[in-house]
Amino acid sequence: PHVRPTGEPAEIDPDELDPDALKVVLRLHQHGHQAYMVGGCVRDLLLGRKPKDFDIATSATPNEVRGIFRNCRLIGRRFRLAHVYFKGGKIIEVSTFRANPTELEAAANANSGEEDGDGEDLLITHDNVFGTAQEDARRRDFTINGLFYDVAEGRVIDYVRGRRDLDERFIRTIGDPEVRMREDPVRILRAVRFAAKLELDIESRTYAAMEGAVEDLPRCAPARLLEETFRLIRGGVSAPALKLLDALDALKILLPPVNAYLKQHGKEGEKTFYAFAESLDRRVSSGEALDDAILLAMLLIPISRTTGPEETQEGGRASVSQVVEDLLAGFVQSARLPRRIAERCRMLLLAQRTLSGERRRRSAAFKRHPLFNEALTVFEMTVEATGENREQLEAWKAGEVPQPRSAAGESDGDS
Ligand code: ATP
Ligand code: MG
Repeated sequence: PHVRPTGEPAEIDPDELDPDALKVVLRLHQHGHQAYMVGGCVRDLLLGRKPKDFDIATSATPNEVRGIFRNCRLIGRRFRLAHVYFKGGKIIEVSTFRANPTELEAAANANSGEEDGDGEDLLITHDNVFGTAQEDARRRDFTINGLFYDVAEGRVIDYVRGRRDLDERFIRTIGDPEVRMREDPVRILRAVRFAAKLELDIESRTYAAMEGAVEDLPRCAPARLLEETFRLIRGGVSAPALKLLDALDALKILLPPVNAYLKQHGKEGEKTFYAFAESLDRRVSSGEALDDAILLAMLLIPISRTTGPEETQEGGRASVSQVVEDLLAGFVQSARLPRRIAERCRMLLLAQRTLSGERRRRSAAFKRHPLFNEALTVFEMTVEATGENREQLEAWKAGEVPQPRSAAGESDGDS
């Protein structure tokens, strides 16, 4: 059953395939449709990594897919795709082959004799034109993400020279990098994520196109930018990824306060900031699932400390909470950070001063706070980043209340 064209190396071990994804593919075949495993799962298997999830592309339309699977729901309005549900809440995503709308439009314009000059608006605003398998491969972002796996034949189908780039460890856009980056600048963040996570190099024309498209980032939907930014951090590669984004000068758009901090505090600031990011990355890489408020809090601690009690006299304490307040309000406004996350993040940041003993609070109540454990996790990562406050940390972890470092009073205006 697993016939391979001669001369090609054994590619993917069938045992590595997700059994539910396999069922979906075979069922689509039974109904006479083409179906392949696609994208990240093929890439990861070829790199010897365990895929996060298995996506499927098919010639069946969303409605046809729904007709075949009972445990299925269609989602998305513009980009309609099917979710097939399995035990334990597992979802297999099934999308219909699509063509790149920009290419289709270009072809249509060429036919109608319309101008196709530059300076033209490339941003993709609709993307629901069905196409062939090959078109579906070509609409994808990077060659390493455009590979299909044919489970019946046991072979990788490569319409985009993705194998070569995987072997040579390059991230390269499919098609013209300038066009592909400008039609969806979120791909800048995606390239950075794959580069950092998979330790691949970004091919030079792709990189140049990324630099050129940075100014177009503000045109992307803030929710998509925020989500791809969180994906970097959740992937345990925030330090290398943010360094890359800084080199591209994209931080001023994605994380303005981080950008301002790095610019204002020079080499020392950089050292501090990346020590926090690396501490966070170590924790995430160890497999611990941390929620978004914790991830964000960790990256904002160095910034939240820039106005500390030691820097100002009267009112210094209030100003720390004001800095935190303004910082998060800015994210809610510009990046559409959900308020719920902003609020949790704010509390985590403010709790750090109590944990470090900078501020004394009634500790029984403090320890009962619903976010106490999360705040302690952030504090622990901070101790790992800075090497400071180890005794305080041990005491809190032992369930004790450490002695405050200063003899400052019990009062606390902000909470
Ligand atoms: P991960 O393993 O981190 O999820 P992935 O490659 O699966 O990586 P997804 O965001 O899950 O990334 O997207 C699945 C696939 O969809 C990608 O491999 C790529 O082929 C395609 N894709 C996703 N986003 C884009 C985009 N902005 N432009 C073009 N193709 C995209
Ligand atoms: Mg994926």
